[in-house]
Amino acid sequence: MEIVFLGTGGGRINLIKQVRATAGFRIDSKSANIHVDPGPGALLHSLKEKKDPLTLDCIIVTHNHIDHSSDAMVLVEGMTGYGLKKRGIFIGSKQAIEGNEKGEDQAIHQYHKSKIEFLYTAIPGGKETFDAGKGQFSIETFQMKHDEPTAFGFKLYLDEKVIGYITDTEYMESLGKDFVGCDLLVINCLKPEDDKYVGHLKTGDVIEILKAAKPKRCVITHLGLKMLRVGPGKEAQRIQEATGVETIAARDGMKLNI
Ligand SMILES: [Zn+2]
Ligand SMILES: [Zn+2]
Repeated sequence: MEIVFLGTGGGRINLIKQVRATAGFRIDSKSANIHVDPGPGALLHSLKEKKDPLTLDCIIVTHNHIDHSSDAMVLVEGMTGYGLKKRGIFIGSKQAIEGNEKGEDQAIHQYHKSKIEFLYTAIPGGKETFDAGKGQFSIETFQMKHDEPTAFGFKLYLDEKVIGYITDTEYMESLGKDFVGCDLLVINCLKPEDDKYVGHLKTGDVIEILKAAKPKRCVITHLGLKMLRVGPGKEAQRIQEATGVETIAARDGMKLNI
């Protein structure tokens, strides 16, 4: 199985200036090819890394923020063979799929929903198994604490490995327990230290999570401008020294074999 980090930038400046790309990451495995959090540039960076959207089996949108969802519909067009067949799996937060209480502001339009074979609204605490045609995989979903209230993190069980993803969230003690047992844990670590913006993890929070979750490997991504100034490699080193968990700071286009 291979994971490619198509975009590793987080925060509002990266979103517009693309200092780091905001394209999410893609997992290619024997069970399924999955694109996670396709923000702006997901299509272009997929093509640049020779990851054909036509070969996608599943798209996951962890919450209804534009840096995680803006390219979701174009990837649906790819996953469904230029929109010509009903195909593929879409897993999204409740607000990404259904919108707010009034039903407004979904991440994908009705037209694109109608093209998807399995549309799954992730409810934290849920577990579901999917058949992607070429193989099966399961997803277990977990509560996050973010200003999109239905945001979820997940553990994916595929090719006999467990890939965890902690998306945008504030620190909660439950994260360490929920994410036990991962071969790889990807964590959105926006900033090195606390600042006035809530709803995101800092380096110290990742240390607390890893001490409890003890994954085999950790990647920090969704790096904000302050993180990039301090040096993500240095922060990854700090995390590794404090926890004993091998920790890598993601770079745009970085590939990992699991
Ligand atoms: Zn974000
Ligand atoms: Zn967010």
